[in-house]
Amino acid sequence: MVARVIPVVPFDLVVFGGTGDLAQRKLLPALFRRMVDGQALPDSRIIAAARRDLGADGFRRRVEAALRVHVGPEQLDPDRLAEFLCALDYVRLDAADEDGWAALFHRLKDSERMRVFYLSVAPQLFAPISERLATSGCLTPDTRLVVEKPLGHDFASARKLNRQLATIFDERQIYRIDHFLGKETVQNLMALRFANALFEPIWNARHVDHVQITVAERVGVRGRGAYYDQNGAVRDMMQNHLLQLLCLIAMEPPAHFEPDAVRDEKLKVLRSLKPLDGPGDVVLGQYRGINGEPDYVEDAGSPGSRTESFAAIKVEIANWRWNGTPFYLRTGKRLQARVSEIAVVFKDAPHSIFPASAGGTNPNVLAIRLQPDEGITLRLTIKEPGPGGMRLCQVPLDMTFAKTLGAQGLRIPGAYERLVMDVIRGDQTLFMRNDEVEAAWRWIDPIIAAADTAPEGPRSYDSYSSGPEEALMLMHRDGRRWRALAA
Ligand code: NAP
Repeated sequence: MVARVIPVVPFDLVVFGGTGDLAQRKLLPALFRRMVDGQALPDSRIIAAARRDLGADGFRRRVEAALRVHVGPEQLDPDRLAEFLCALDYVRLDAADEDGWAALFHRLKDSERMRVFYLSVAPQLFAPISERLATSGCLTPDTRLVVEKPLGHDFASARKLNRQLATIFDERQIYRIDHFLGKETVQNLMALRFANALFEPIWNARHVDHVQITVAERVGVRGRGAYYDQNGAVRDMMQNHLLQLLCLIAMEPPAHFEPDAVRDEKLKVLRSLKPLDGPGDVVLGQYRGINGEPDYVEDAGSPGSRTESFAAIKVEIANWRWNGTPFYLRTGKRLQARVSEIAVVFKDAPHSIFPASAGGTNPNVLAIRLQPDEGITLRLTIKEPGPGGMRLCQVPLDMTFAKTLGAQGLRIPGAYERLVMDVIRGDQTLFMRNDEVEAAWRWIDPIIAAADTAPEGPRSYDSYSSGPEEALMLMHRDGRRWRALAA
């Protein structure tokens, strides 16, 4: 199978923070891969903007070194690499003062290409950079702006940021990245739901017992402690990634696969989330060190910190489709395995016709795996092969993409590859709209406020476990249990 490559118009992409971790590790390798696949460049330019004194050649050397680390050797063809490096340029500027902006303007002024400004910098620079882009004359009507999370710290700050950006950009020009939405499996979820007649009739509270959404990491916060300790699992993961996944599972079919039609439906879900009844539906945790490894406080370098490195929340959606079907969300660091998945657990067969000796039936589970091994499996109960009478067993119908598609020679593009190309094509479907971000914060704010005022801090859990005991209880008291955290 050959991946279809849709050509894009030439562009000028200015990456503020082009020397930083995100740009070097994700964004620039993604652009390089698109070029190798024949999509972007060579008529386009990528201009990095940051404070350090590098010059274009210094920046190119830095990017070359990063590509050698982050791109597979099979893709590092010397000719393509030279071509890519040739498209790079560098402007030294400081977002916080006037230096360098005239130089950026001069780089852009004679170009007819579509412009993208990608803000891969700390969020407090989003507004100053946007203002200086406007005052330095860098904006055209076709300009697009890309911003990375965190999009605010709470509802008030998110609204303030949205309003600041709205004084300079139209909403149709703003692309708020949630890289989870760029994953192949996440989009496949929409194809699965809306391009097959099979699931939609049973995609509701009558047939779905509950849904579990898990984003678990094995790593701790070391190296990112200063940032993480100001945020915690609820702000860093729940408010954006997990709620966005929940929206895609729970939303009604949009009338068309168009940006605003999809985002309207996601927004309705966010606005239907029931406020949490009490503290019992939220469990926050913080990891303990084991085997001489540091605990959270040490990793974060923040003595006495009450920031949570784990959160589990039972969410209910107050609408006709989902009334009575809980969604259990959990995310955390230093957990047993690195795994991100959505599991739709269907109700069990209403009555078993088989003798007890056959073994019980088990609910069907549709598991959508985001990482590792992106793919979808459907767990079915079948007869165990062989003689010896009727014995039931569970098997997965496996659609692991690497196996199913990779075996046919198709490389699965990474999330940033897709998202950057969507920006260039002007497709906002996979990007969060201002009202979505605000609705998510509105629901999250009381959870954070309750945690801040609670007499007790987060529950302690062992590193590399499945999280605090209380998170297990969150499910057990409903007669359910979390799926095992297995990579
Ligand atoms: P980083 O490694 O600290 O890089 C920050 C970049 O901003 C550097 O290139 C830095 O270069 C530049 N910069 C800092 N102050 C500046 C100023 N006053 N004017 C111009 N440039 C300035 O940060 P990062 O990890 O790449 O993250 C960038 C953004 O993406 C943040 O908002 C972060 O929350 C978000 N994000 C990151 C990741 C990730 O995996 N890293 C994931 C999701 C979201 P100079 O020092 O040379 O100026």
